[in-house]
Order: sequence, then C-alpha cells, then structure tokens
Amino acid sequence: MPVAISLNTPIEDLHQFKIARVGQNLSRKLAAALASYSTKKQATDATVEDLLAYLPMRYEDRSRLARIQDLKEGMEASLELHVKLAGGYEVRSKRSFSKSRLFIFEVSGVDAGKTGRPVVVWWFVSGRHAYEIINFYTKKLSRGVRFITFGRWEWDTRRGTYSLHLHKPADELEMLAASDDEGSSEQSDEDTSDPSLAAIHVGRRVPIYRKLGDFNSKRLREIMHAILGALDDKSIPETLPADLKQRAGLIGRGKALREIHFPAQDASMEDYERSRSPAHVRMIFEDFFWLAFAVALKRGKRTKESKGAVIQIDRRVTDSIASVLPFKLTRAQRNVVLQIFNDMKSTAPMNRLLQGDVGSGKTIVALVAMIAAMENQYQTALMAPTEILAEQHARNIKRLLAKTPYRVELLTGSLRAAEKRRLQSALKAGEIHACVGTQALIQEAVSFSRLGLVVIDEQHRFGVMQRAELRARGFNPDVLVMTATPIPRSLAMTVYGDLDVSVIDEMPPGRTPIETTVFADNSLDRLDVKQLISREVKSGRQIYVVYPLVEESEKMDLKDATRRYEYLRDTVFPKFSVGLVHGRMKPAEKDEVMRRFVAGEIKILVSTTVIEVGVDVPNASVMIVEHAERFGLSQLHQLRGRVGRGAEKSYCVLLTSDKKTSIAKERLGIMAKTTDGFVIAEKDLELRGPGELLGTRQSGLPEFRIGNLVRDQQILELAKHEAEFYLNKREKAATTAKMISRVSQDPRFGLAAVG
Ligand code: ADP
Ligand code: MG
Repeated sequence: MPVAISLNTPIEDLHQFKIARVGQNLSRKLAAALASYSTKKQATDATVEDLLAYLPMRYEDRSRLARIQDLKEGMEASLELHVKLAGGYEVRSKRSFSKSRLFIFEVSGVDAGKTGRPVVVWWFVSGRHAYEIINFYTKKLSRGVRFITFGRWEWDTRRGTYSLHLHKPADELEMLAASDDEGSSEQSDEDTSDPSLAAIHVGRRVPIYRKLGDFNSKRLREIMHAILGALDDKSIPETLPADLKQRAGLIGRGKALREIHFPAQDASMEDYERSRSPAHVRMIFEDFFWLAFAVALKRGKRTKESKGAVIQIDRRVTDSIASVLPFKLTRAQRNVVLQIFNDMKSTAPMNRLLQGDVGSGKTIVALVAMIAAMENQYQTALMAPTEILAEQHARNIKRLLAKTPYRVELLTGSLRAAEKRRLQSALKAGEIHACVGTQALIQEAVSFSRLGLVVIDEQHRFGVMQRAELRARGFNPDVLVMTATPIPRSLAMTVYGDLDVSVIDEMPPGRTPIETTVFADNSLDRLDVKQLISREVKSGRQIYVVYPLVEESEKMDLKDATRRYEYLRDTVFPKFSVGLVHGRMKPAEKDEVMRRFVAGEIKILVSTTVIEVGVDVPNASVMIVEHAERFGLSQLHQLRGRVGRGAEKSYCVLLTSDKKTSIAKERLGIMAKTTDGFVIAEKDLELRGPGELLGTRQSGLPEFRIGNLVRDQQILELAKHEAEFYLNKREKAATTAKMISRVSQDPRFGLAAVG
C-alpha cells in the first residue's frame, strides 16, 4: 500500500487509503465519472488533482438557514424542510400531439419550527422515463424526510403559499435524512448517507457541486471533505514562486484548494458568490498565468526566428499597388497596410491578426500585401473558410489583377483530379502567383515553390493547428490572419496571444446605417416583411432570406429552407426570380446560383448560413433571418453585414417566434440597438461564453477550470503582466527556467507541437 495520498494518486486507488466509506466500487465509479468530465481520457488516468479541480458551482451558507416566516417575494434562500406530501401530476394531455407528455412533480414541506404555511417545491418532468422519475421521487420524498433546497422563492397565488421552481432537482435539492441517495439502485451501501457526516452538510458554509456521474452534490461534498482531510499540506506542492505570490497578494495553493471547496466560517459569502474569495483569486490567477506564460514564450520564440528573405517595399511595389487599387484606401486601411509592410520588411516572420468589422474592407488590405510579396517574386496563398467565399475572392482578385502579369488560380476540394494535378504542378513550377482556396490548400499537400505570404480570411473558422500546418509547408512565410469577429481584448490575448493585432476601425465612405427590426413571426408582421421585399426588389435591390442550420436537425432545417424557397418562388413572389443555396449542393450548382445573384439575375436568395461569412454583393439591401433566436449575436452581426455595403439604405429583419423567451427578445434587442461589432461580441461572450463565440474546438482555446474571460479580465491582465516579467526581466533566472520546463510539458499549451 502506498504511504500517503497525494495529488497524483489515481482515483481508482483511493480505496487503499482507508478513507471512511471510500471503497473499491466507489473509487472505480468516481474515476470513470471524472474521466468523462475532464480531459483525461481513461479512468485509470484520473487523479486526486483532477477530482479537486471539480469545483463547486456555488455555495450555501447553511449556518443561517431561512425560515418560512422570513420569506419574501423573489428572495433567494436555503430552507430546510420536512416533507408533508409529494407526488406528480400531468399538465399536458396526450392530445397535444407530437409533444411528449409533461408532468409536474410537487413537494410540500414545512420548516422545523413550523413558522408558516407549508411551502411548495416543484419541477417539470417529461420524456420517456417520466413515470420512473416520478416514482423515484415519490418514494424518496416520503412524509417526514428532511431536505435542504435553495433558490428564488416566489409568492404563488394558485397554491396560496411560497413556491420554488427547480430546474435540476438533482442539483438543487438535497436529502438530509438517512434515505437512499440518487441512483441508489446501482450503488452499494457504501454510498448511503452516514449520520456522522451530518456536520459536513448543515450548520456551516457548504459547497454545492453539479452532479458528476452518479454522484450528487452531497456525496461529492463528503468525498472532497474526506480527501482534503487525508491530504497533508506537504502533498500539495506550490506551483508559483514565492515572490510572485507576495507581489500579487495570492494565498498558497494548499490553502486555496481547501478553501475553494470549504469556505472558512468567517469567510465573506459575498466574495465567494462573486468568485472573489482569496481562494478563487489564487486559483483563477493560476489558471491564466500558465497560459499567459506559454503564449509569451511562443511569441518570444517567433520573434527570434527568421524567414527566408525579407520583402522590399520600394517605388516599384507601391506603383504596382496604386495601379490596381479601385478606390482610395481609408485612413484606417492605410495604417494597417503600413503595419503589415513593417512586418514584411523585418527578418522575423509576420504573424498578424487583422481585425475589422464586417464590411470595413479587409480584402483589399490583403490584396495590397499580396501584391507586395508577388513584386518580390514570392508566391502568395489566400485561404477562405467556405468555397463560396474562396470563389468570390478568386473572382475579385482575378478581375483586379487582370492587367498585371500575375496569375491567380482557385484551388478547392471540389476540382476534378486532373485539373487539380495541373494546378499543383503549376504551383510547384512557380507559375501560379496567387493561389486562392479553402482548407484544400493545406489538406492536399500542395507544394509551393516560393511561398512568401499566407492570408487566412475569417480566421475564427480555422484551427490553430491548420495555421501551423500551412506554415510548416512553406518557408516560414509571413502570415496575415483576418477576422470580422471582433474579439474582445481578453480573448484576443488568449486565443491569438502570439499574434500582433491590427484593427481597421473605420468604414469605407458612403455607407448608410442598416435599419434592424425584430419581428414576431406572425402573419401580420410577415405582411410587413413581404411589402418591404416587394418594394426593395421593385426598386432594383436584392434580398437574402437566411435559415439556421443546426447540426442535429440539419435535414429538417434544409427541408424548411427548401420549402420556404418553393413557397416564396411559387406563391408569394411568382414575378421575381428566387434562388436557393445551401451547403449540401454541389459546388458547381452553388457557384452558379451565387454567380446569378452577384449578376443581379436572382432577386431573392434563400439560403442557409453558407453565406454567413464574407459574401459581398453591394446591391443587396435586405437581410431577413428566420428563427433569429437560434443564432448567436456575432453570427447575426455577420449576416447583417451582408447588406449595407452600398450607398442605399439597407434593412435587417430578425424574425422570431412569438413564444420565445424574454431572454431571446432581449438578445435580439441588442442587435436592433447597435451595429458596433465589438459591443455585440462582448455581449455574446457574456451570454454564451468564449467556446460558443469562437468554437472551442476550432479555436484551440484551452478550457479554463475556473477563470472566466469576461468576469476575470483584471486577474488576466495581472497574470499576463507577471508572465512577461519573468520572461523579459528574469530571462536567465532559475525560477524562469523551471517555469519554462513546466509549461513545455503541459500538453494543454501545445508548445511542443508549434514551434
Ligand atoms: P470585409 O472587411 O467584411 O471583408 P470587404 O473587404 O468585403 O469587407 O469590403 C466591403 C466592401 O467595401 C467591398 O465592396 C469593397 O469593395 C468596399 N471597400 C473596401 N474598401 C473601400 C474603400 N477604401 N473605399 C470604398 N469602398 C471600399
Ligand atoms: Mg471579408
């Protein structure tokens, strides 16, 4: 048997340490549950450290439970109740077809002092197992059983008492009496409540955990308590240097780990609620610090690299650019061009992120950079996230460069094999100067002869690895990444931390603002929309109608879009030409529809979100989004950016069904209020989190255990500042060397892979 439990102890071995009620069966189940929750793939890999990283979702001060007589409308409070009566009843009959049956489960209970009328705790039950669930709770909540529940109490006129609506009873309701626990049928007797542990659950500040596998909050609390008790301070090694802790005012790691699970009796519950307890601050700081350190390290490495040859920007280059430009660049465009030129002239490879709101004119900036590289005898590549966008870029660039000697080609996955081979050998021979494409550009082992510049459009759709892959294929080329998802500063630092950032903060002249309206999806409003469409088409403009395409129900949505298209074409606007484009169409068909829309032959284009990004048809003046509530705000902003590209007034109509929640309405209201992409992105980040905004998988953004990029920006700044301090001012110190080896070994930061 191992001597003492440590952070590295596998959860599967926990039972060897003679911790009360932690047996072999429990260890195995806990390890499996943790493995499916954390980044550890196998149950055998889950350690005590992973378990302790499963943090409480909130805390309750059970040293001061509320009484029924103290309840007030809308008050948040924990109550300890004795069950009087519990049971379920159906609220929607079988007749409302296609919907599954819906039940309410209701418990009435009184507090120990019987200080008021019994209150009611209730929740909805539905689905295939509704009966089993109701039976389970009816048995579990038999008369006299004690439980604690927490939430917002409301005066319930129908019931004539205070009631509490639970959303996840498994998380929000906790049994106190020695009844069976959650899922008891599968668990052995080691999982039943032990009266000797009661002191952990009541009369103090307690952590509330989200259910983990079969383990409910209460059981997790017991396990955490037992394990923290068995761990001595020496077995929780400090990871941050002492001077750093002192400067930043951080408590030790051991103390933080203990107190983030079990707040001290005198701790401020307000701090805990705001995630600002000393324990939280320490853990959040640590979460950010290592990422900031890794990012700064990566960036330092890159600036020491050197690319094959530098780019010269001389008279010849600027003349060539001037001869091609169709309009005068805005001040903001000129500024970023200068920044890009400075990078290209330097010996270190450029790695620059170009941010600019939808329609700010990023494409022309990219083209200017490409011309500079081509004038220096380098090949350039431009990658776009969709074929439609790649085709559009190729078309425009070909047109603009028609009078130059440069050969522009489009290389996408849908080319015929022979054609592809022909283009590839031309690339290898250096005969193609600008190659536009989709991911196919990197996936198909394309080899360039002299690749000097890579432009990646709409970067938020590309993964970090793809970027690295493409760089690996060339000669450490300059890389320019462009995005219209205005990334809040905090996020930019973490996702694109090793990139320099340029911003186009000005729109090309002559734009009129877009009028955005949120419409309820009823026949009256539809009439308004119809009139708007007719009027705009009659005055020569074009219209987009967009349907969401949600992955799980892709087929259904496609049917929606197709049906809607047929309806618009045959019934509503038989006189106008209506087109349909979606991701499932063959590329040639797609291309043909887009070409006809660009040429103005198609007046109304029904589409799925394939047109979300980048499409540029200045004559389009109306964007209609169906089921707008299903889109994220940044996505809606992108869609809206398809119109308002010309001098005419444009409209964006967000249709949402009447019944949708007030939250959805509020979100859509933001769209009507502002056209500032940054404001919208901040809101989106706040409402949906960074994973949704950027797609965690795609962006390569590491998951934070506890740090929150919106809430914790200040701590993030501090962590960044400290990380740079060690890498710049203490470059040679032993502490720094230790830190470097630490982050290099952490697979989360991918330092080994990207060099
Ligand atoms: P985005 O930044 O969204 O990629 P685009 O590059 O597609 O924007 O540009 C949007 C539109 O603005 C295009 O029609 C483009 O030709 C036009 N445009 C870009 N820069 C200017 C400018 N300086 N003056 C006038 N029109 C411009
Ligand atoms: Mg664009």
